[in-house]
Amino acid sequence: MIRNDRTFQCIINDRCNNNCLFCIDRNDGKSAQKNKDCFSHNRTKSHLQLVRLLHKAALKTKNIIFTGPEPTLNNALIEYVKTAKAAGFTNIRLITNARRLSYMAYAKALISSGLTEIIVSLHGSNRKIHDALTRTKGSFEQTTKACSNLNSLRQRHQFVWRINITLNAINAGDLLEFYRLALRFKTIASIGVNTVIPSGNGLVFLDRLSPNYTYLAESFKNALAGLKSPSPQRIGLGIVGLPVCLFKKVEHIVGIFETALINKNKTVRIEERDPERIKGKLCAKCKYVSTCAGVWKPYIKRYGWKEFIPVL
Ligand code: SF4
Repeated sequence: MIRNDRTFQCIINDRCNNNCLFCIDRNDGKSAQKNKDCFSHNRTKSHLQLVRLLHKAALKTKNIIFTGPEPTLNNALIEYVKTAKAAGFTNIRLITNARRLSYMAYAKALISSGLTEIIVSLHGSNRKIHDALTRTKGSFEQTTKACSNLNSLRQRHQFVWRINITLNAINAGDLLEFYRLALRFKTIASIGVNTVIPSGNGLVFLDRLSPNYTYLAESFKNALAGLKSPSPQRIGLGIVGLPVCLFKKVEHIVGIFETALINKNKTVRIEERDPERIKGKLCAKCKYVSTCAGVWKPYIKRYGWKEFIPVL
């Protein structure tokens, strides 16, 4: 039976040309990589097995996402996208640092192969911040060049593209400038703000990246308030990973950002549940207790519940 509320996650690579401080697929510490299963496709599947797997998965859902570690480093990506399309997937998405898409010929070939959506990870408004977070010199130049390429390709081709930033202590003060940069790309559908997932390097560097969720929430609110022109209403804006109680009176800006989050109905969008996100004793009093995805367990272990006051 086809379930369109499900997405088939396809991991076709086990390396990356960036080295992000918050990468959940890497671990600079000594403990074992927590999410090593992520690499299973690449490690255990041959090319032919993966093609078969795509056909099998297409019988269950029409949604597929090619995701990290960086999928564009697998030279067969274009072929896999074509296979996914031929197998019957209709929603074919790619999450990428987009550095390879700075080469226009490659970006064009990828779009023409049948991708319907591209989500680009960009983490700052300038080289200094972005390259410090990716720990890779030259990554800012390539990713922003890729955004220019997608912006111009979108004028002639049907696909959706978005920019996502992972908000943290290093880039939070730069968020307004980051929005201004991203809004220069007129064909973009949304600018999503993610927060650090405390897993892999995200856990190793948690103290450095997310010392205070309240500060991150305030930075997000201030950046939105500073966005006067061009109007943010034309594209989706939002934040995920922080609980609604840090956004009292503007709760509608929290949640998924596939569609405009500065939404007219001012309703709260529900985030995906994760067993690593938990709720505290006081949460029972909160009006969002049934829809809130909670707070990451490792964060609570280090900093406690004092920031999270129920919304009554
Ligand atoms: S349920 Fe708890 S964590 Fe979630 S918004 Fe309410 S107080 Fe915050």
